[in-house]
Amino acid sequence: MDTEFKKANFISDAEKMRDFKELSKEEFLQSYSYLTEEEYDNTKEIYTKSFVKTRCNMCMAYFEYDENNVVDTCPFCNTGEYLTDFTQSDIDFLKKKGLY
Ligand SMILES: [Zn+2]
Repeated sequence: MDTEFKKANFISDAEKMRDFKELSKEEFLQSYSYLTEEEYDNTKEIYTKSFVKTRCNMCMAYFEYDENNVVDTCPFCNTGEYLTDFTQSDIDFLKKKGLY
């Protein structure tokens, strides 16, 4: 098992994960005051890694999918031959927009 999964986190807590996806970091840590920022960051790291990020070269849509539920078709234009892994410039672009 990856050592990162041994860091304190709440990745398997469905209720917290629901809030994790909906709330900002500040809001989340305020509503779960007994959790530490480190636990939040550890969870975020694991959560981010569990998603495969890809871009469709046909319609240029960015999307991600669960590692355990692999897709080979773009959900936007339904083509499958044009999916590409993120390059560093994709990541930089999305980071600028706060999407990564
Ligand atoms: Zn597409």
